[in-house]
Amino acid sequence: MKPALKVRELKIEKRLDNFKEVVLGYTEKEAQEEAKRCFQCKNPRCVLGCPVNIDIKKFIFQITKKDYYGAYLTIKEKNNFASICGRVCPAEYQCKKMCVLNRNKGSFADSFAINIHLLERFVGDWGNKNVSLPEKNKRFKNKKVAVVGSGPAGLCVAYELAKKQIEVVVFEALNELGGILRYGIPSFRLPRKVLDFEINYLRKLGVKFITNFLVGQTTSLEDLFKEGISAIFLGTGAGIPKLLGIKGEGAPNVYTANEFLTRVNLLNAYQFPRFHTPLKLGKKIAIIGAGNTAIDCARVALRLQRMNGLKIDTTIIYRRTEIQMPARRIEIEHAKEEGVNFKFLTQPEEFVLDKNGYVKKIKCLRTYLGEKDRGGRERPIILEGSDFFVKADLVIVAIGLKANQLLIKRSPQLKLNREGNLFVNGETLETTLKGVFAGGDIVSGEATVIEAMGMGKKAANSIIKYLSNA
Ligand code: FAD
Ligand code: SF4
Repeated sequence: MKPALKVRELKIEKRLDNFKEVVLGYTEKEAQEEAKRCFQCKNPRCVLGCPVNIDIKKFIFQITKKDYYGAYLTIKEKNNFASICGRVCPAEYQCKKMCVLNRNKGSFADSFAINIHLLERFVGDWGNKNVSLPEKNKRFKNKKVAVVGSGPAGLCVAYELAKKQIEVVVFEALNELGGILRYGIPSFRLPRKVLDFEINYLRKLGVKFITNFLVGQTTSLEDLFKEGISAIFLGTGAGIPKLLGIKGEGAPNVYTANEFLTRVNLLNAYQFPRFHTPLKLGKKIAIIGAGNTAIDCARVALRLQRMNGLKIDTTIIYRRTEIQMPARRIEIEHAKEEGVNFKFLTQPEEFVLDKNGYVKKIKCLRTYLGEKDRGGRERPIILEGSDFFVKADLVIVAIGLKANQLLIKRSPQLKLNREGNLFVNGETLETTLKGVFAGGDIVSGEATVIEAMGMGKKAANSIIKYLSNA
């Protein structure tokens, strides 16, 4: 059996001094070739691996028949943003892993599984080019819904409601829309034109966006109801960085991943002083963590080093081994080929500062892997007396995110679950405050784009029912 058709990528020498998209996607001929490898299984297991149950078998069949419009509609039944998900979904842990052609029994799919995400991207991009934009809603029903947060969960709710002619206003705390899709994921993975297209599509449907508006501070949820809003969706994400809690972490050359990526992706800090936000770049950059965020930081950091005429010297420090890294496999491969160094089985213990209070090196300890933890990953155990030093003049801590409690503090009727995320009714996604629904990372904790969208769609259906009974 032939392995999956490889996708074209930007050559390494052409990607290091810019933020151009690296994965170039399938051409029509390539999409045809890959789609024809699909067995069209009687019981398509791939669908079970998709968090929103896209009819994968059907849309792949439609591709083989060159019915791209049909394939576009099939995907759109479950997922509004195929071009985005086709680029960022961790398919190797989801649909591809379940594909019968996958021979790998481990935690992610091998190179034989159908490249479902690349076929989805092909169809999404085809639709964005060939399907005309919707007519602007001329008449809204007499109900207005506020969506708080413009990440994938909020955008999905806005789309579902606007389609049903329900008036939607999206409030976003930042100056630009898209949540992590804009301020987190770099444009070499998700070009801004793809995101902008989807947001403009929502504008065309009549969705109103208000940026620089922090709900909970600028106004409360109760105020929104008083102003005539009938229901609210909270899609505020998990934007608060987790910290290591070790000595020296407060030094000015230690950034959290969020701060580093926001400065680069949103505030163009690498073009200081043309843009106002500064960014201290290092000659030796260390990133602590192993998820998508850590890999994104490393790949951004090395591009900035190259663009500033510095030698690439960017190292990921992780306390487990490569196989346990939760990042997407393709991103790990890209990071390696672009020159990121990896120090596995290594745990930072202290950031050692110079006389001016800046980190100059990291005291680390070696680890080995022990029993599996509740999440099924081997627990790292410290090897006593194994300390050694890693030189670094810029450190980025990328060990995860947690829910922002601002809204919860301002609206005490909202309750938290045991993990510290927002508590919702599992069936309806309604919070403990009547008429307020929630979804995405604020409810699930850090998850994925497609899971946030799936919750957005579910919440939108509950809101539609709620409005019809109100
Ligand atoms: P977010 O995307 O976090 O959006 C929440 C929005 O709400 C933000 O714009 C925020 O400013 C706004 N907000 C917060 N509070 C308020 C308020 N009070 N008032 C108004 N606005 C508010 N997932 C994948 O599937 N694939 C990937 O490749 C991937 N890569 C990632 C890379 C990085 C760097 C990070 C950090 C995450 C990545 N993820 C990835 C995870 C994924 O991006 C998230 O799971 C997803 O974005 C969550 O969506 P959300 O809508 O819940 O929240
Ligand atoms: Fe095609 Fe794989 Fe799904 Fe079977 S499991 S229908 S081969 S994508």
